[in-house]
Amino acid sequence: MDERGQRIGINEALFRQVNERLEDLNEVFSTFTGTMSVVCECGELECVEHLTIAAQEYEWVRNDPTQFVIVPGHEEPDVEDVVERNRGYDVVRKRVGGAAEAARQLDPRGRQGER
Ligand SMILES: [Zn+2]
Repeated sequence: MDERGQRIGINEALFRQVNERLEDLNEVFSTFTGTMSVVCECGELECVEHLTIAAQEYEWVRNDPTQFVIVPGHEEPDVEDVVERNRGYDVVRKRVGGAAEAARQLDPRGRQGER
C-alpha cells in the first residue's frame, strides 16, 4: 500500500465526515433550493474551499465510497481519475490501491458490512 495514496485517501475521507454533518443542515436548505454547499473533498488537508452541488447529484456521488467531489483542478492525478466535470465542481474516483482502500475503510456510512 503506497503511503502517499493512503494519506490522500484519509484526508478525503475526513472531509467527507465533515460533509456528513453539514448534510444534516443542508437538508433543510436543499428542500428549498435543491442544492447544497459542501467542503471540497480533495487530498489537501489545508483546503477549506466550498462548492455547491445539487443534492441529488451529491447523493449519487456518495453512493460510491471511492468517489469524491472537489473544486475543479484539485484532483490528484496519480491516485484518482476525474469521472465527471460540472459547473463549479468535479467528481473524482480513487483508483484501486491505498487511497481507495483508506476511503472505503473510513466511509462514515460503513458500507463494508463489518457490523
Ligand atoms: Zn480542494
